[in-house]
Amino acid sequence: MHKYVYYFGDGHAEGNAGMKEILGGKGAGLAEMTNISVPVPPGFTISTEVCTYFYEHDKSYPPELQAAVAENLKRVEQSVGRALGDAAQPLLVSVRSGARASMPGMMDTILNLGLNDTTVQGLAKSSGDRRFAFDSYRRFIQMYSDVVLEIDKENFEHELFALRDRAGVKTDSEIPADRLEELVATYKRIVVEKGGREFPQDVHGQLWGAVGAVFNSWNNARAITYRKLNQIPDAWGTAVNVQSMVFGNMGDDCATGVAFTRNPAIGTKSFFGEDLANAQGEDVVAGIRTPLPISNAQALEGETSLEASMPAVYGQLVEVYKKLESHYRDMQDIEFTIQSGKLYLLQTRTGKRTGFAAVKIACDMVDEGLINHTEAVSRVEAGQIVQLLAPVFDAKEKAKALKGGRVYGRGLPAGPGAAAGRIAFSGERAVEMAKEGPVILVRVETSPEDIVGMHISAGILTSRGGLTSHAAVVARGMGRPCIVGAGALRVDYGKGELRAEGHEPLEEGDWLSIDGSTGEVLGGELKTQPSEVIQVLIESSMKPEDSETYRNFDRLLKWADEIRTLAVRTNADTPTDARTARLFGAAGIGLCRTEHMFFAEERILRVREMILARNEEGRRKALDQLLPFQRGDFEAIFRELSGMPVTVRLLDPPLHEFLPHTEGQISAVARDMGWGFVELRAKVNQLHESNPMLGHRGCRLAVTFPEIYEMQVRAIFEAACSVTQEGLDVRPEVMIPLVGTVKELQILTDMVRRVAAEVMKERGTSIEFLVGTMIEIPRAALIAEKLGETAEFFSFGTNDLTQMTFGYSRDDAGSFLPEYVDKKILPRDPFESIDQEGVGQLVKLGTDKGRAVNAKLKVGVCGEHGGDPESIRFFRACGLNYVSCSPYRVPVARLAAAQAELEFRHSEA
Ligand code: ADP
Ligand code: MG
Ligand code: MG
Repeated sequence: MHKYVYYFGDGHAEGNAGMKEILGGKGAGLAEMTNISVPVPPGFTISTEVCTYFYEHDKSYPPELQAAVAENLKRVEQSVGRALGDAAQPLLVSVRSGARASMPGMMDTILNLGLNDTTVQGLAKSSGDRRFAFDSYRRFIQMYSDVVLEIDKENFEHELFALRDRAGVKTDSEIPADRLEELVATYKRIVVEKGGREFPQDVHGQLWGAVGAVFNSWNNARAITYRKLNQIPDAWGTAVNVQSMVFGNMGDDCATGVAFTRNPAIGTKSFFGEDLANAQGEDVVAGIRTPLPISNAQALEGETSLEASMPAVYGQLVEVYKKLESHYRDMQDIEFTIQSGKLYLLQTRTGKRTGFAAVKIACDMVDEGLINHTEAVSRVEAGQIVQLLAPVFDAKEKAKALKGGRVYGRGLPAGPGAAAGRIAFSGERAVEMAKEGPVILVRVETSPEDIVGMHISAGILTSRGGLTSHAAVVARGMGRPCIVGAGALRVDYGKGELRAEGHEPLEEGDWLSIDGSTGEVLGGELKTQPSEVIQVLIESSMKPEDSETYRNFDRLLKWADEIRTLAVRTNADTPTDARTARLFGAAGIGLCRTEHMFFAEERILRVREMILARNEEGRRKALDQLLPFQRGDFEAIFRELSGMPVTVRLLDPPLHEFLPHTEGQISAVARDMGWGFVELRAKVNQLHESNPMLGHRGCRLAVTFPEIYEMQVRAIFEAACSVTQEGLDVRPEVMIPLVGTVKELQILTDMVRRVAAEVMKERGTSIEFLVGTMIEIPRAALIAEKLGETAEFFSFGTNDLTQMTFGYSRDDAGSFLPEYVDKKILPRDPFESIDQEGVGQLVKLGTDKGRAVNAKLKVGVCGEHGGDPESIRFFRACGLNYVSCSPYRVPVARLAAAQAELEFRHSEA
């Protein structure tokens, strides 16, 4: 006979931790805890195979299930010394769902099953506590009605709140027994009214009703969506745990709580949790009463911890948590209940943690001999490591502010880190005010003209926009703390006010603090400081030996480097960025955008002269004057990255980006350049393109005006020769943007080689270099086997490739992409994480085609995706050589590349 039901209790379980597939996560945890003698109320798990059977057989059960449940129920009854439905000594059970992967919120657990009008009396008598009995009954009716009878729980809660008011008490635990008894009567009336029948009194019927509801919940809309989003196969099914109840609501020597075996926020090796006396189940997280801290260390002034109020039980709890942690070799998140001074564990699972905590816990556990380096690397979510780079709030101060009602609102945590400053409502004001001290730029949303203000601000807050809004993207790039989409806040530019319900309006100059790692907006000034990693690595203002955080960061990334095969480069246009990235562990530059070098004040005039020149001669004259600037920039970058490849992209944007646009700007430039206003305006209009992103830009410019690229190539190689002559090792890689045809690439590659040869001959120096192309136009990916014959490297510009493959303009997609993601038309914003299904195919195809004709072809990615862990996993699987990302993303990419490698090896094995 097939085994469908697994017993756990009395120190022995039929299942164990390795059986998540058939017992679900919760069931496996209960079995394992039982086996290692952690106190767990006895019960049994109905396996996920029954769920599968249920759906394959028109929602019926295997014939042998009935008997198996009866037999296991008997074992539970014997163990507890009570029986389900017994009038004098009734057994109560919980019925809990539990899939293989945790699916929070998929279904509510039912507690106190087995109560009816008779057994509630028995419970009252046998416990000697009438209040407790009716408290349990009213909870049961509400949960059972909600989950099984599908009567909205609001109906019941409404009555409960009204009763609390009538009785003049604040919390449920203060409601006296007879009032609870009345409440039960009211609840039963609601069931008749809303459900059209009496509340079921047959306890076995209750049990099977609950079991069926759990299995049915596997296919409710919520669960289906959740599985789709998290790639959980529909075939897995859920298990059902039936477990004898223990009661945290039997008086003041009872409690229920949740805890983490280490601090989930900062990772310290200290037990951390919360509990509520005289309460049950979800009360702790439901926010009805404020839970109390578990330990004295955690308690703020005036709070009584569990350690202080129940020292003996606390001692048991400490023993158990230590046992669980060393058994599972990871931080655990546990649920417990204390009944009349005795401790029971009801759940254990791997605890969620911040990036900060994840790094510390991983390193500590290596030191404690619990895990090895590889395990440590896989324990930290790659994207989370940026949290270690961001400024931080003092933890105690923040806790005080949260409790003190200083939360003005919440938004999406877009740029991790903490910032405090004075409110400025415009980029311009931010620049002004920053002279006096730190500024928080507060906007409805930001736009490119706010860039300078954003850069100078300590933090950025917007009331509108999602994680790909301008503010979010720019802030991440800059490593600025940022919160976006704090919808409850009203930003009123007219009045110069920031309003939040229940608070006085804030004005320009008022202090505000934002935590970009969590999304809280707090009034007033909370102290911050640069992260220790930055202090050690970038500012050299702290010594490694003084910062444990830095040392852990460094160790973890070095372990990652030992694993990964994918190189990580950076996108950097300045020597400062190049240096930062190198210190973060970048192996070179994957994208140096030369146009940024054209914007500085002394240069933009020359650029404009070049663009506006009436003929080639005029253009060359202007270019000759630009050349020393570019050369100087390249020299500085080459010096910074001696021994490493530096990929320089030749001019990419359309020329009109460099021209003045407003009448005022045009007349100023006309004056500077000695042109007539009308003449200049006519020229500017003439250069205007209706769709510049698809217009005369990139290599197309160089085909029609070769002298521009010639100047840039000359600057690159003159700089390379000089720096080589200084004794440094220079490795330029010249990259041609926006190639769509073979001829474009051939013409420009020939030009690069010709100019390079000229310069090297003039300087009597020889330099090894590569010439390659960006692949950012779909056509380029499709003809990659032809491009691969000329190019020595490919670099996928996945931003443009995404724009052009989808036909979405990145600058305009903000108006519909969030809704696309909401409506599940797209799983994610394709500019954030590469669209593997579509754009990804072009990356794969282009790589394979290119390598087919040129086995040595170096292939990389230089779009925003180069810093996204999910995308990095995909790029590793495509066999790319490197990814390139912004300097502050380099640590993320290093870690993600190692994890991608582990996953890849695993999938190959
Ligand atoms: P979830 O998966 O939503 O956490 P659980 O099945 O873990 O649901 O249960 C919800 C709450 O009820 C938890 O606080 C849990 O500890 C508590 N609980 C579950 N079963 C029992 C039981 N047999 N005795 C006491 N409390 C229980
Ligand atoms: Mg739980
Ligand atoms: Mg591009």
